[in-house]
Formats: sequence, C-alpha cells, structure tokens
Amino acid sequence: MPAAASVLLKPGKERSLERRHPWIFAGAVASVDGDPANGALVAVRASDRRFLAWAAYSAGSLIRARCWSFHEGDRVDSDWLAARVAAAVLRRADLRAVTNGMRLVCGEADGLPGFIADQYGRNLVVQIQAAGVETHREALLDALCAASGCEDVFDRSDSALRAREQLAPAGGCLRGRAPPGNVTFEEHGVQYEVDVRRGHKTGFYLDQRDNRRLAGEWASAFLRREGRPARVLNCFCYTGGFSLAAARRGAGAVLSVDSSTDALALAQANGVRNGLSSGAEQPLQWRCADVFAELRELRERKARFDLIVLDPPKFATNQHQIERAARAYKDINLSALRLLAPGGALMSFSCSGAISPDLFQKIVAGAVIDADADCALRARLGAGSDHPAMMTFPEGEYLKGLLLERLQ
Ligand code: SAH
Repeated sequence: MPAAASVLLKPGKERSLERRHPWIFAGAVASVDGDPANGALVAVRASDRRFLAWAAYSAGSLIRARCWSFHEGDRVDSDWLAARVAAAVLRRADLRAVTNGMRLVCGEADGLPGFIADQYGRNLVVQIQAAGVETHREALLDALCAASGCEDVFDRSDSALRAREQLAPAGGCLRGRAPPGNVTFEEHGVQYEVDVRRGHKTGFYLDQRDNRRLAGEWASAFLRREGRPARVLNCFCYTGGFSLAAARRGAGAVLSVDSSTDALALAQANGVRNGLSSGAEQPLQWRCADVFAELRELRERKARFDLIVLDPPKFATNQHQIERAARAYKDINLSALRLLAPGGALMSFSCSGAISPDLFQKIVAGAVIDADADCALRARLGAGSDHPAMMTFPEGEYLKGLLLERLQ
C-alpha cells in the first residue's frame, strides 16, 4: 500500500479511539503529515506515533477524520469498502420476509461513516455526507446496486452537511432513472407511498417499523380483549405510518394529527391505497394542526382514546436545548395521558440524541405523576434492526420509546 498521510493526535486524545469511537475532532489533531486530499485515506497515530486507525480525512470539517478500520493490517481501498456495503445488505436479508423498504447501509453502524442507503421497492435513496464516502462513491454505489438488485439510485444528501465537508451540493438521480413520482413499498402488509424528493430523511421513517407493527398488534389484541375497536390518536403522524398499521389490524376511529399539509396529503393517499380511506363510515381522520394546541382542545372536548402515539420531531438538537426539550416532552406526554382511557396504551418516543433513554424515562415518569395516572411500563422501544446502534458509538442510538399501559 502506498504510504498514507498521517494524522497525529495530541497527547491523551487517543483515548476515544482506543475505545473505538470512530470520529476524530479537529481539536484533537496535533499535526497532519503528507498533505492528504479531502476524503483521502490517512493513518491516525497517537502522540507517540503508535497506529490507531485508518480513517477518511475531512480537510475542513469539525469531524476531521472518520475511522474506516482499527486494524493496521487492513488494506482499505474501494474494494474493501465495497465489501462492507455487501456485508451490510446481507445483514438485512431476513427483513425481506416482511418488507421491501429498509435501511441497507446505516453509516457508522455499518462501518461506513457518512453513508446512508435506503431501499424502497426497486429504488435506492442515498445520502453521501462525508468526504471519504464521496471519494469512493462509484465503488460504493456499484456494490449497493449489485447486492440489492436495484438499478435506480436517487441522492438526498443534505447540502448543509456536505458544505461542512467541503463538498459541492448534490442531489438527484445518480444511477438509472429518477423516480417519475412517489415510490411505493410494502411493510407488514401495509403499502406506503414515499416522496423521495421532498420527504423527511430519505422520504420515510423506516426506523419505526417494529413500533408500527407493535401498534397494530396492540390494536388487534385490544379488539379481541375488549370486543370493540380501539380509539386511536396518532400525534405527529407524518405520512400515516402508525395510523395505517393500527387501522389495518382492527383499530376503530383513528385521529391523526400533523402540521404538514404535504405529509397529510400523502397520509390520506396511503389510506386510500390500503382500502382504509377516510369518510363518515371510515375510521381514518387526518387533521392539520399543532399537536400542542390540539391535545388541549381534545381535553376540553373530553375526548378519550385507547391508544395514543407520540412521535414528535427532534426537540433537542444539542446539549443546550435539553431543558427546553424536556419541558416540551413533559407537556405532550402529560396532555396525552389525560386523554388516555383506563386500560389504554401510550407509545411515546423521542428521537433527540441529546436526550438519553434514562432522562426520557424520567420525563415521562414526571408526566405520569402529574397526570395522576397509574401506568405500567410494558416495553422499552427503539429503532428497527436495520438501524443498529454500535456499542462504541452511543450517538447512533437516537430513537427511544416507552410503551405504557394505563391501569384500570
Ligand atoms: N410518526 C411518523 C414520523 C413523525 S416525524 C412516522 O412514523 O412516519 C415528525 C412529524 O411531526 C412531521 O411530520 C412534522 O410535520 C410534524 N410536526 C412537527 N411539529 C409539529 C407540531 N407542533 N404539530 C404537529 N405536527 C408537527
């Protein structure tokens, strides 16, 4: 292998790498030998020049390098990275029994920092957010297409993130044809339409798959147990994921609330696609409103629900916002608990990486006390298996949830 440039760390700054955390921040770097290009392979060395990792260099980024490998004997090149893509796709093979929509490559968790690839049916949607990934882009996409059997690749890279990596804005069709409109995929028997051009993330919240199924199972168990369909409230419903999963498994009236008219239009279309359209006789109702206000209004109307889902956007994007975010989480959880009938369930989520699972549980417990509701913790919830969290990269564990049951 040609001698790679080296990034030399300041004394003591090797510790996080020794614990196999994959990021090297600019402030940890003492010097760089060999003038590496943006995205080039570098050897990361401790202050005594000991080898620590192979990494991709990001010339201007706060995250100055991202580790590919901690093994000095690895020969990190395009073929090696392509093999990681193939392994990542293979790792998700079991999921194909229940869906043709899944995250195939999940960045750091698959040893490919800065690379996200999602599949929706025959379409791939990628995000290329690090210089090292951009450098090997074609080899990575070759491997992705070969392993998934898909030919069409659409790019949804975030230009703000790319700018931080000194990469030109990107987006649009990278391989094959651009999807003419929305793409569709199926998950646990429910069909979803996805706007890969304008939708959130790559178009859909694939990470909530298992929890959508759980909502469906809960609705079905409720119907068997109570002999009547569950009344469901889905707050922050986006394109209707939880609502459709519950309705398909026997929920009764499902009220879904979101502030985005685009998301609601797609949610409604998804309802029709699955034969669960709204209307006087039909169980689905889509409401464009602010959830905070809507929860209060529902309370004034003395509304009652048997299953409530709270899946808000990220309230805290950094440490400084934790306190304000905690108040917002408490507020919606308290309001939701006041609408929850005895025997009912609350599925409450936070996707703020800055809020730990522990803190989130404390916040929701505070809401339980204030609501004067006796609640059992039935399950702790997280992202699906295609969004794994690495033991050495806690930042990857962003989604957490609680399934509470309000006792009689
Ligand atoms: N549960 C969804 C994902 C939710 S994403 C799923 O499984 O697909 C968060 C959603 O909250 C977005 O659709 C966004 O439009 C909506 N949103 C953000 N702030 C809101 C508010 N104050 N009131 C209502 N909806 C809001």
